[in-house]
Amino acid sequence: MEKKIQKLISDIIRKDKRAIARAISMVESETPESIDLLNRLHNYKNNALRVGITGPPGAGKSTFTNQLIKMIRNKGKSVGVIAVDPSSPFSGGAILGDRIRMKDVMLDKDVFIRSMASRGNLGGLARQSVNAAEILEAAGSDIIIFETVGVGQVEMDVMSAVDTVVLMTVPDAGDVIQTMKAGIMEIGDIFVVNKADLSGAKRMFDDIEYMLSLRPKIENWLPPIHLTKALNGDGIADVLEDIFRHFNYLDESGQLLEKRRQRIKDKIKSLVNDRIIRNYWDDETLKFLDDYIENEIKNISPYQIAEELLKE
Ligand code: GDP
Repeated sequence: MEKKIQKLISDIIRKDKRAIARAISMVESETPESIDLLNRLHNYKNNALRVGITGPPGAGKSTFTNQLIKMIRNKGKSVGVIAVDPSSPFSGGAILGDRIRMKDVMLDKDVFIRSMASRGNLGGLARQSVNAAEILEAAGSDIIIFETVGVGQVEMDVMSAVDTVVLMTVPDAGDVIQTMKAGIMEIGDIFVVNKADLSGAKRMFDDIEYMLSLRPKIENWLPPIHLTKALNGDGIADVLEDIFRHFNYLDESGQLLEKRRQRIKDKIKSLVNDRIIRNYWDDETLKFLDDYIENEIKNISPYQIAEELLKE
């Protein structure tokens, strides 16, 4: 066992794609070994920049990400992509977009792409995706991109775990005010109107600009808006520049450190919570609860039963 995990770690560090894929599957299944693995990989953290790209289905996120990957590679940096799709039951490259993209990058040892899906159970998907990024980080990814589809809780949780959020929309994506209501406008650090070749792109740009002018100015970062054509790559280099610029802004203003501290604190709390809960509900306690419910349910409220249990 010990030897196996040592071997897995050394394979991950030398960027072996099969080992990385296997490790992510472990993280996805949340096996006890995966906790051990993540713990040991902590020594190999490299301060990777985490970017979230989110937008409605069909906005062009995978096309855009594909172009972004090429530009990142041209700068000599390595990149990992985690495409999080809560609506899909398929994980691990089963999504069509993945296979198309894989063709381009399969042979590049400095690019790793993985899709992660709910597999019928949404609980934990955000956590598993964030944990998978730790594997990619240990494998040397300088930049980790999380691609998500919109405004659900999983997407929001993933976006709260990144340094920079790129919010993508398209001309005629419907009423921007509706999008705003969904609470997503507030999380964007960089805005992208993709499919700028279609009519209405400028109008969307203006609408976003107006919306942003209403946003309370609480920091020194004014979110830039970009018009892009992901099909031919137009405008994407400027987005990448702004991603780096935002990272520097976070770093210099001390927010990066603050964000990372907060994330570590949340992580420790959730690890402790998980352990306490797992330890608490042992067989004896469950039996105690069953007995109570069987015999006392008519006489005692759930609140009293909870109090009784916690007194034990
Ligand atoms: P995703 O669902 O957000 O990942 O979107 P995809 O990257 O799969 O793209 C959805 C469709 O939009 C595909 O048919 C793309 O070829 C197309 N598309 C992507 N970028 C552009 C663009 O800049 N202009 C136009 N006209 N189509 C685009």
